Amino acid sequence: MKPRGLIHSTILSVALLTGCGDGGTAPLNDSITETKLSSDLYFLASDEMRGRLVGTPEIAVASAWIRDRFDSLGLQPAGDNGSYYQAFEITSFSLGNGNHMTVEGFGGARNPGDGWTPSNAGGSGTATAEVVFAGFGIVEPRLNFDDYLGADLSGKIVLVLEREPGVSDPASPFDGLVTTEASREWRKALAAQERGAAGILFTRDIHNRVDAENWEQAHTDAWPTEPRRVERFTLADWINQINIPAARISSELAEALVASSGRSLEELALDAETTAEGLGIVSLPNTRVSMNVAVDRHITPAKNILALAEGSDPQLKNEVVIIGAHHDHDGTDGDIIYPGADDDGSGTIGVMAVAAAYAQAAIQGDRPQRSVLFAVWDAEERGLLGAWYHTLSPRFPLENTVANLNLDMIGRNEEVPTDGGRRFRGLEIQSAESNANAINILGYSWTPELASVVELANRYNLELRMRYDNNESNLLRRSDHWPFIQSGVPAIFFHTGLHPDYHRPTDTPDRIEYEKMTRILRLVHQTSWELANTEKRPKLEAMGTRPSS
Ligand SMILES: [Zn+2]
Repeated sequence: MKPRGLIHSTILSVALLTGCGDGGTAPLNDSITETKLSSDLYFLASDEMRGRLVGTPEIAVASAWIRDRFDSLGLQPAGDNGSYYQAFEITSFSLGNGNHMTVEGFGGARNPGDGWTPSNAGGSGTATAEVVFAGFGIVEPRLNFDDYLGADLSGKIVLVLEREPGVSDPASPFDGLVTTEASREWRKALAAQERGAAGILFTRDIHNRVDAENWEQAHTDAWPTEPRRVERFTLADWINQINIPAARISSELAEALVASSGRSLEELALDAETTAEGLGIVSLPNTRVSMNVAVDRHITPAKNILALAEGSDPQLKNEVVIIGAHHDHDGTDGDIIYPGADDDGSGTIGVMAVAAAYAQAAIQGDRPQRSVLFAVWDAEERGLLGAWYHTLSPRFPLENTVANLNLDMIGRNEEVPTDGGRRFRGLEIQSAESNANAINILGYSWTPELASVVELANRYNLELRMRYDNNESNLLRRSDHWPFIQSGVPAIFFHTGLHPDYHRPTDTPDRIEYEKMTRILRLVHQTSWELANTEKRPKLEAMGTRPSS
């Protein structure tokens, strides 16, 4: 990582060049106050909301409360059919009947757990075919990378490695230490299907990590016999595209399959690791796999809440700044409630507070040139699904979206304890006191110009820390700005950081730093005002060319 001072000066010089910071003070900036924030948060994170789990009656109450607030502020509905709601569907999975697999010449029909398990990245179906190996199975046009090198997979089952090249290399073009989007299993399955594959097999990237020791266990972990407390979900619009069967297999089975190439799995994996444009197809003559996969899909309805403050300029009002946060959280475990006051009650009431400032200013006749969309996303905790859905069905075309400002956990001081364990991986030990005035800004490496707008708007005595874009914590891809960045929209993540109460029943409203949060929201308000009025739109850096810090 580059030292912070260096990043800082780069951003400032970009700011001077782009000449931002001329929008004046946002009207009613000081109308955002502690008192209002705390009364809202005590409601949203109350026990009655029962952790606002997606699909529950309680989150429906929270959604209606947010909708009513937008309505009473006089903001325009910006959801489906003149409502404030944007509905979408999310999918969970259970194991169907009749799953089995045969690797010819290597034992008979196998049940799941016997060296393999069905993957929910595929559909239900049967495939019997010769196998080919194709590296990581990654297709990433932004990097001119294609593990298939244009090959057709008709009549084949493709075997690919899990994850991505350079998985622990900060300089990897695949987003450094951050997990790259193209490495997701459903994207790999879709890429294989689009090339005609009959099925897809995933196996461990064994040059980076060893195989599962116990495949019975690996299978039960993937498909527990008792339902999980909270199901795993994906976006229905993604998974509904995929119908080829998919499975994960042991490195032992993968080794047996690649033997006919005359090379070991590790040798092939190392080749896949070091190729610049993609490995291409390695044929595995005389192999034959029969896969019979049955995975049942189940739909849960979800909905975003969208409200608009329309811009004053007849042309520029067709462009939009999106200020977003997520209102869902992790529900309950028996009598234990996960209140999610910081995550992301804080961001949600923050969006409402900024929305109120815009709405009241508009009543006084003071509107920005561009429009501002206030978005409260659903199903963030289930994989950023509401925000992802919005990038597929945006209210304004994405090319007209000037920026997304994402508020997720803006109410605390980052605290990384000595005994924090894996959930704090990649983060240095630090005390809450050392972060008393600080907020992390993420996304700066993708859009230094937007980060500079935030820096120039900071007249609130806040320390903006730009340090986590290339961090093993994966924080950069863990909230709702990520789908926007991946869809070509400049986006910045406002985040006061993890702390020991993160995703615990102790994430309660009494632990929130309301005074600091007030200043953060004034900064967000001011930043959005600049963006809604500035002549020059911030740009997004190309993937693989941006600084890797
Ligand atoms: Zn969150």
